[in-house]
Amino acid sequence: MYLKEIKAHGFKSFADQINIELNDKVTGIVGPNGSGKSNVVDAVRWVLGEQSVKALRGDDNMTNVIFSGSNSRKALNVASVTLIFDNTDKYLPIDYTEVSIKRRVYIDGTNEYYLNNERCRLKDITDLLLDGGMAKESFNIISQGKIEEIINYKPSERRVILEEAAGVLKYKKRKEEALRKLERTHLNMQRVEDIITELGNQIEPLKAERDRALEYLNAKEQLESIEIALITSDISKLNAKYQDYKNRVETLNNEILNITISNSSNEAKIEEFRQKINNLDDEINKKQKELLELTSKVEKINSQKQIILERKKYEVDDAKFHNNLVNLKEEELKLQNDISNLQNDINNKQQEVNELLVNIKNRESEISKIKNIHINLENDLANEIRRETSLKNKIDVLKESIENNSILPYAVKSILNNPKLRGIHNVIGNLIEVDEKYSKAIANSLGLSSTFIVVDDEKGAKDAINYLKNNNLGRATFFPINVIKNKDVENDVISLINNKEGFISIASDLVKYDQQYDGIIKNQLGNVIVAKDIDSANDISKAIN
Ligand code: ATP
Ligand code: MG
Repeated sequence: MYLKEIKAHGFKSFADQINIELNDKVTGIVGPNGSGKSNVVDAVRWVLGEQSVKALRGDDNMTNVIFSGSNSRKALNVASVTLIFDNTDKYLPIDYTEVSIKRRVYIDGTNEYYLNNERCRLKDITDLLLDGGMAKESFNIISQGKIEEIINYKPSERRVILEEAAGVLKYKKRKEEALRKLERTHLNMQRVEDIITELGNQIEPLKAERDRALEYLNAKEQLESIEIALITSDISKLNAKYQDYKNRVETLNNEILNITISNSSNEAKIEEFRQKINNLDDEINKKQKELLELTSKVEKINSQKQIILERKKYEVDDAKFHNNLVNLKEEELKLQNDISNLQNDINNKQQEVNELLVNIKNRESEISKIKNIHINLENDLANEIRRETSLKNKIDVLKESIENNSILPYAVKSILNNPKLRGIHNVIGNLIEVDEKYSKAIANSLGLSSTFIVVDDEKGAKDAINYLKNNNLGRATFFPINVIKNKDVENDVISLINNKEGFISIASDLVKYDQQYDGIIKNQLGNVIVAKDIDSANDISKAIN
């Protein structure tokens, strides 16, 4: 192996490209002082990996080796030197008969190395050269003034030169490197031991935490099944109550029917009494007429009697007349008897009428009592019907809530059930309360988004998504509170539809929720309009468009 050619461009005084071919006939370079002989040697040293600027007779920076300009030429930005070795004897352990090594430095300090025109690291070059006994420290190159130094070396220092000449240096270098590596490995091992101790300390608390988490999951499962059992028992109790109330409503209805029947029979009786009273009144009238007739007869008789008495005064003694008088007196007595009988009769009838009137009063108060009872019973019935409807609604809501919880997707459930995830609130559907009559409308408006999970922020969402991904649990949608903004129906739209027939409300105004969810609930329901029926919904949407 020998150095066949040196090519330099921009290196120190070589502003132009120079090619120095070194065949086996060249033994030296001569020239005047400052003509660049030592620069040729510096070029070789530089390519072999020299990192010390001083060793290259520069100031402080490796860019000093770039041609710095002269009176007639401008400075350059880059210096490059290529050494070409003949390696036909395979002295260098590389599969080429010719090896070219190139180094290039730019004005910004960047260094590049090439081996057979392929970019490589400095280490690749030093390794190759070390194997060939040509390290930069090697004594293949002895600089100007160095000979004197070598003569003054201590024996131990001189030994280095001998060792290198004997080819030991490269093994020494490798040993040093191996020792450095060993040191690094020891340090690494120490670090690994530190980590193992630290992890060992963490195992106990992690185990306890895992036990607690398992306990929690267990308890949660139990709680869920207890809750379901409770709801089921609630439903069956409510059903029993409902049946009970239904039966009571039926009995009350029957009672009302009976009262209505007895009411009408009472009224018939009252009618009968009235009829009787009328008949008695008629009879009384008749009797009074008779009495009047009799009284007028008595009067007549009395006047006749008076006449007779007058005649008697005039002593008209007449037996016939006497007889007449006797007859008249008898008749008078008889009439008086009749009158007193009639009077008695009238009194009795009057008595009967009074009794009947008392009876009617009693009946009437009885009827008003019954009417009051009727009104109370009707009120009771209305209350029971209201209760029945509200119980039915409750049953519906409970059924719906059971269905809703069981249809939460698996991914969502596993997020909600994971106590380790932070900042998870709940699904939207569980964060709102809604009156039964609007529950269907709100459920429809929310649709799938009722199972979207509300979280504090994007970090919470990212952690939960990673948890789902890492455990292959499926997908879920997250709503970070700090990001989601509300969507309101515009004010002029509201004033336009406010008075429309069938307009009920903006959906977000129909639900109750904690103020912190305002943005999310309004985002979902703030631009949904709830109307009474399809026709009014169509009218309202026409009005908006
Ligand atoms: P001597 O016989 O005295 O040893 P020499 O032939 O070895 O001399 P060198 O020391 O090789 O000469 O060359 C020195 C010359 O190189 C000087 O003229 C110096 O100005 C020039 N030189 C060194 N570095 C640069 C550079 N970066 N840019 C331009 N010229 C440079
Ligand atoms: Mg010189």
